[in-house]
Amino acid sequence: MKKTIKISAFVLSLTLLITASVSVRAEEIPRSSVPQNATEESILISLHNVDIFEKFKFGIGDTVKIYKANMIIPQVAENATQSGTYSLPMVCPCCGQPLEIDKTSGGTRVLRCNNQHCSAKLVRKFVHFCDKTRMNINGIAESTLETFVSNGWVKNFGDLYELEQHHDEIVDTDGFGEKSYQRMQKSIDASHKCTLNQFIAGLGIPMVGRSAGRILNKQFGGDWNAFEDAIKSGFDFTVLKDFGETMNNNIHKWYADKDEEKLWRPLLTKIEFIKKNLELYSKN
Ligand SMILES: [Zn+2]
Repeated sequence: MKKTIKISAFVLSLTLLITASVSVRAEEIPRSSVPQNATEESILISLHNVDIFEKFKFGIGDTVKIYKANMIIPQVAENATQSGTYSLPMVCPCCGQPLEIDKTSGGTRVLRCNNQHCSAKLVRKFVHFCDKTRMNINGIAESTLETFVSNGWVKNFGDLYELEQHHDEIVDTDGFGEKSYQRMQKSIDASHKCTLNQFIAGLGIPMVGRSAGRILNKQFGGDWNAFEDAIKSGFDFTVLKDFGETMNNNIHKWYADKDEEKLWRPLLTKIEFIKKNLELYSKN
């Protein structure tokens, strides 16, 4: 059975999402020939690396076979047509800057926009920050954040806590009424008290995520100032469990980045750190 699906060819890095829509026909894979169940739904497929993108030689109208990796993530198993008529974008569709192919620490080639001021990157940073596993701000979809960023209502993380000054404009936004606004504000208010690990995980320091956040939370007693003082004094984070040289460098590099600082520094006056889950790490 053939299904018409729309694949958005997402070339992802931690900080950038590039979208390029490709319409293709997909067909269901015989269950015996794929690792997991074939999907029958319309889906979005993320193509994380350039090697895979090139391997499948995509083109508009191609017939692709898809499956769910680990029962969840839709992936391309095969491109039956391989017309090769679709090529990777050479400029960022958001800011127009030339794109670069970088290698991740794991050797994966990824397409990136390295323009620090690209608004798509800023949106991704906000999405990352608001995620339920980080600052847990519900009620702000990615499309909402795109609207907020493009209208200049949020320029840094601290602006999320001052959205009431844009109340009238926000509730006038398509698909965003008073009810949605109230739900969003409730969630933002709730995030006002957060733990150091939530905060650190939300900052988007490369390779410093939730697990590292928990370790730092424990190490610095849930205290932001202790963490910041450590960075200022050149603390060697490799003394911590699971922290390697790259993570150590990433933390120091992130802290020294003035553009990044403009994003997170204003937040410090808006939130209150609560000391919670300090024993979490030691139990593991
Ligand atoms: Zn860009």
